[in-house]
Amino acid sequence: MKLHEGVIFLDGKFQKRGTTLEVINPSTAQLLGHSVEGSAADIDAAVELAQAAHESRAWTRIDPLERTRILGRAAQLIREREADFSAVMSAEMGMTLNFAGWMEIPMAANALDFFGSLIAQPKGVTAPFSLAGPQGDYLAMTLKQPVGVAGLITPWNFPLLMPVWKVGAALAAGCPCVLKPAPQSPFTALLLAEVLHEAGIPEGVLSVIPGSDEAGKALVAHPGVPKIAFTGSTETGKHIMRSAADHLKRVTLELGGKSANIFFDDTDVEEAVSGALFGIFLNSGQVCQAGSRVLVQRGIYEAFTARLKERVEEMTVGDAGDFTSDIGPVVSREQWERVRGYIAQGKQSGATLLTGGGNVEGDGFFVPPTVFTGVTAEMPIAAEEIFGPVLAVIPFDTEEEALSIANRTLYGLAGAVWTRDIKRALRFARDLQAGTVWVNTYQILSPTLPFGGFKQSGLGRELGPQALEPYLETKSVIVDLNDTPMQMF
Ligand code: NAP
Repeated sequence: MKLHEGVIFLDGKFQKRGTTLEVINPSTAQLLGHSVEGSAADIDAAVELAQAAHESRAWTRIDPLERTRILGRAAQLIREREADFSAVMSAEMGMTLNFAGWMEIPMAANALDFFGSLIAQPKGVTAPFSLAGPQGDYLAMTLKQPVGVAGLITPWNFPLLMPVWKVGAALAAGCPCVLKPAPQSPFTALLLAEVLHEAGIPEGVLSVIPGSDEAGKALVAHPGVPKIAFTGSTETGKHIMRSAADHLKRVTLELGGKSANIFFDDTDVEEAVSGALFGIFLNSGQVCQAGSRVLVQRGIYEAFTARLKERVEEMTVGDAGDFTSDIGPVVSREQWERVRGYIAQGKQSGATLLTGGGNVEGDGFFVPPTVFTGVTAEMPIAAEEIFGPVLAVIPFDTEEEALSIANRTLYGLAGAVWTRDIKRALRFARDLQAGTVWVNTYQILSPTLPFGGFKQSGLGRELGPQALEPYLETKSVIVDLNDTPMQMF
């Protein structure tokens, strides 16, 4: 497996750095390799190069069709190197090989293709207009221009997809960028840098500075970075917004969630159980839009929970590098302790532990898929984002009650309703306070559709044509076409 140890990606090459950061393989709890603790000086150097690239138009002066081809080549390289990417991300953050190959890698490649397709599309408008009065011949146009250097900060849970969503949008809008990946998943981000460089991104247009606190804060505070795109926890998002206010930076935030997956009793029980499992246990529950609250109407509640227990107990938990594992570890010891803390809290709060909740053999950070039933909306396991394989099942009687429970949360990232009643489905599509609503499905995303949160799940949208807007400034240009000079005075 190829790991870019002890380096940052700067000026189109990997550069050695002395200060190291240990990356632990969560399946074994053993050291995987050494990355770099990027410094404020590294961020300064990366921003300086990106500013120079912005000023010289090193990226945007390349023919748009060629820029589209570059992102397309990068997408193709990701597909060709699927085995490398899966091996690295599985070892550094515990994503199962199965899931990486089936979902993360194709989605990342498709997103780059999509962003490439946006490059050549016209972004401004041109409109001739006349002002009232004698001197009424003007030409007006609206230009959309790259805002400047984009600072991109990503979490570990989708170590390829999250950087691609940001780098792809920034480049499609014409912004040079500096990426600071999470300290748990630097090697995937550096592999992405290698691929983008090989595809033809010019030097200085993209830097990747692994690291933790110092590098992230330096990037957010840097006066030469007018745009910050952040994905991570709601708490950190709030810090970032405060810090970015000093320079009135443009900020987009993709934050946490506690999404409701709602099953009415006209749903087939087997289908409902499959939908609930798919909603929560992908990537060991470390998915921002995970359906971590399952709401089940009483008519199928008993049958649903009985079958859910059977299906969960058939799942295999094991090494993320083993193709037979359904669920790998959680990312780190810290996350393992946090998730186990919530399980203990669930037991104390009066919810019923339907299954899971115990220990898994092995040294890795494994948490068994865990389900609590009889949960009420106020319990911490139903209100707070756990970010692990823990599901809270909440019974309900009426449609009004389901909607009220679903919306009674700080978050608003996603949600789903399962029913055969088309009008009810459409009422939920309209009334769920969430950026993505699924009907009779879960987790399905497309790069062509905007993704983001209502309420404290975020600000702005990634993906879809809207994804470029936060990276663009809008400028009105007015040209006087009159032959005679202005004669006001
Ligand atoms: P996190 O602790 O908020 O960290 C995210 C990133 O921010 C990391 O690179 C982190 O590195 C950096 N960071 C932390 N504090 C910072 C600061 N003050 N200034 C600048 N950078 C800072 O989140 P996480 O634990 O990695 O990820 C899990 C969270 O991400 C969950 O809440 C999940 O819901 C959310 N998420 C949301 C989406 C979405 O699209 N809405 C997608 C995926 C994940 P350091 O900690 O080393 O500083």
